[in-house]
Amino acid sequence: MTRTEQYDVIVVGGGPAGSATATMVAQAGRSVLLLERDVFPRFRIGESLMPATYWTLERLGVLDQMKCSHFPKKESVQFFSPGGRGSVPFYFSETEAGPSAQTWQVDRAEFDQMLLDNARSNGVEVHEDTHVTEVTFDGDRATGVNARFPDGQIRPLAARVVVDATGQSAMLAQRLDLREGDPNLRNCSLFTRYRGAVRGQGRDEGATLILYTGKPRTWFWFIPMPDDVVSVGVVGPVERLVQGRAGGPQAIFDEEAASCPAILERLEGAEQLHEIRAVKDFSYGCRRMAGDGWVLVGDANGFLDPIYSSGVFLALKGAEFVADSIVAALEANDPSAKRLGRHAAEYAGGVDAMRRLVYAYYSPEFNFATFLREYPDAKDELVNLLIGNVFRKSIAGLLESMQEFCELPGYEPFHLEEAPSE
Ligand SMILES: Cc1cc2nc3c(=O)[nH]c(=O)nc-3n(C[C@H](O)[C@H](O)[C@H](O)COP(=O)(O)OP(=O)(O)OC[C@H]3O[C@@H](n4cnc5c(N)ncnc54)[C@H](O)[C@@H]3O)c2cc1C
Repeated sequence: MTRTEQYDVIVVGGGPAGSATATMVAQAGRSVLLLERDVFPRFRIGESLMPATYWTLERLGVLDQMKCSHFPKKESVQFFSPGGRGSVPFYFSETEAGPSAQTWQVDRAEFDQMLLDNARSNGVEVHEDTHVTEVTFDGDRATGVNARFPDGQIRPLAARVVVDATGQSAMLAQRLDLREGDPNLRNCSLFTRYRGAVRGQGRDEGATLILYTGKPRTWFWFIPMPDDVVSVGVVGPVERLVQGRAGGPQAIFDEEAASCPAILERLEGAEQLHEIRAVKDFSYGCRRMAGDGWVLVGDANGFLDPIYSSGVFLALKGAEFVADSIVAALEANDPSAKRLGRHAAEYAGGVDAMRRLVYAYYSPEFNFATFLREYPDAKDELVNLLIGNVFRKSIAGLLESMQEFCELPGYEPFHLEEAPSE
């Protein structure tokens, strides 16, 4: 049973984007209801954080929990060629000073539970096992939701602002037809976990490894987790990796691993812990981020690609933008598209910087070592992108250099004129 049926804000979805948005709006003294259809803890892929998550985790008040956790510390990212040659590790501390130069590799079941519990501790009314069946509208203005509670009853709930944080389900974007797939990134992924793989030593023990297989646009991730477990996945174009391929997911995964000696040598003798899971067509954007009485955050607003582990960072950073816009809109007693989307242009600019680095990685002409030989001054800004420092103007120089070095495709799902900012 809900305490009341009228809220300042209803957040749909309790992943990192939803929990963080709800927490920060509640911290500003607003009444917030969060509805999550699953029962936590629940599995989620996406274990490697970017260092720039540090500042949102601090704002949420969970840094001490992170520091005391068993999550491996991540200090760098390293890229491997098909022959197994490693780039120099990109250590975040070479560019970022202080504690935010290090981040964590998280088990998302635990991490997401921690953030959801933190929302509760900050006064958010949280209901799990509660499925939002629709967002309700009066004309173009969102007025609340209908939600099926664990007793099976569907109840209408009213709010001044509805936040869609439903992840790849993208409930509102689907309903309002705002979603645009990225034609340059029609990828899919097969992944599992192993115990007993060969990990790096010392400060490299928690590093994310990106291992290129030599097959077009296809690579493995190797992400160290707690308890001697590693998360391993392969990503590649849908039409190459899975379409028309004989054998099931396990056979495809094994064949791809066989073409990547650097992953094979790390997995030798390791025990596979789960059957292979698969996801596809996960890259898309939305034409608008906000409307009257509604706003999108996290994957519900768009997802780039797993290559640089930017998903949770963009979910958390996006939550900061969205929470600040909501609080200001409620303060002004005007939860209009204009106010709820006041962050839209700035947020889209940061995402676009990250997107160009993703495109560069998949471009046949791009190679980190050659790029840095030609543009040695770009190294700091490149590491800044890997850290997540993308919401600042100095990134423009790096983007120009990358564009000169290799031709990058265009893709602009977000049309500013449709979502005016202040
Ligand atoms: C192959 C792959 C690898 C990835 N690797 C990384 C990585 O290493 N690092 C990284 O940072 N990111 C990674 N990501 C991305 C990351 O998983 C997402 O960006 C992140 O989970 C987004 O958080 P979110 O809160 O927006 O969505 P989610 O975490 O998906 O949360 C959405 C929540 O909404 C709930 N929900 C949905 N519909 C409803 C409804 N109707 N009613 C109520 N609740 C609902 C769901 O149950 C879910 O709990 C990866 C993604 C993929 C596909």
